[in-house]
Amino acid sequence: GSGSFLLHQTDSEKTLADRVDSQDSQVSDMDPNERSWPRQNSLSLREWDIPFDELQIEETIGVGRFGVVYKGNWHGSVAIKMLNMDDMDDKKTLETFKQEVANFRKTRHENLVLFMGACMKPPRLAIVTSLCKGMTLYKHIHVRKEKFNLSRTIRIAQQVCQGMGYLHAREILHKDLKTKNIFYENGKVVITDFGLFSVTKLCQGNRKGDWLTIPKGWLCYLAPEVIRSLKAGNQPDDTDLPFSTASDVYAFGTVWYELLYGEWPFHGQPPEGIIWQVGKGMKQPLTNIQASQDVKDILMACWAYKPVERPHFGNIQSTLLKLPKKRLARSPSHPIHLSRSAES
Ligand code: ADP
Ligand code: MG
Repeated sequence: GSGSFLLHQTDSEKTLADRVDSQDSQVSDMDPNERSWPRQNSLSLREWDIPFDELQIEETIGVGRFGVVYKGNWHGSVAIKMLNMDDMDDKKTLETFKQEVANFRKTRHENLVLFMGACMKPPRLAIVTSLCKGMTLYKHIHVRKEKFNLSRTIRIAQQVCQGMGYLHAREILHKDLKTKNIFYENGKVVITDFGLFSVTKLCQGNRKGDWLTIPKGWLCYLAPEVIRSLKAGNQPDDTDLPFSTASDVYAFGTVWYELLYGEWPFHGQPPEGIIWQVGKGMKQPLTNIQASQDVKDILMACWAYKPVERPHFGNIQSTLLKLPKKRLARSPSHPIHLSRSAES
């Protein structure tokens, strides 16, 4: 497509969390008489089934990687994420979807979007969550060009860490942490779309044959090890993308960068250039950046080349707590200078 970059993807992608829950979802697929798992398990997944007819679908909110997101009503205002599956009859596709749903329903945290249920009868596959009010951090930062002072930036980052730390404690990887998936309203952060990444690549519009389109602004969230495996992905029998808690932490580093500087790292560079640099362990230079060393240290720690060297969300939170909150992170007179080196 226009300006997009194509890479090969593999079909199977399993995380620890996927495996943990695959038991439940297998159960629900079986005939009740054939079932070997305890009945209770199956019921617990069914509880989250929403009959499609019960949903009142209202206006379109937007189109994303999964398909169309609608505002709707189901016992109150909800967001309905309709999934456009490539191949509805494909058992594996449905299985992946059910696994993601099984993951999703385990989450209860203030900083995570509320999962309400899912429509699980093909071809009507949809995920229903609470409707986030307010705007995404992406809108605040990149569209409205808002500048948060350092104390607000820290409060936002702390809530992101809280939600992410919780997900990791539940053995759920986000895999798609980005400012477009973080809502911010009245001082409160709500993270969305965790654990849905495996579904996205099964959706229409993302694929051209066996190739996946890389959406603009996505690469800068990908850790070197993930980028490197995209590069290596030209072989047909490629292995899974190595997402991990550490790759989520890398993505958080990019969010922290955007919060501080109002721009994406490697802004304006072509995908090939970003892939090459990140894969080689190069980072967005911070030399021109007006920020205290401890603020930059967080960035460098999250962006560490080796996954094992990246901190956990708990560590980041304690570091954030110790930061002095007074200074402005971005000088209004130098808001975008840091990206100059990347653009030239
Ligand atoms: P992306 O995250 O890449 O923007 P999505 O498919 O997740 O793509 O979202 C499509 C649109 O729907 C975006 O504008 C997003 O902000 C909006 N959206 C997604 N989930 C919700 C939600 N729970 N509440 C309100 N708006 C949402
Ligand atoms: Mg999203």
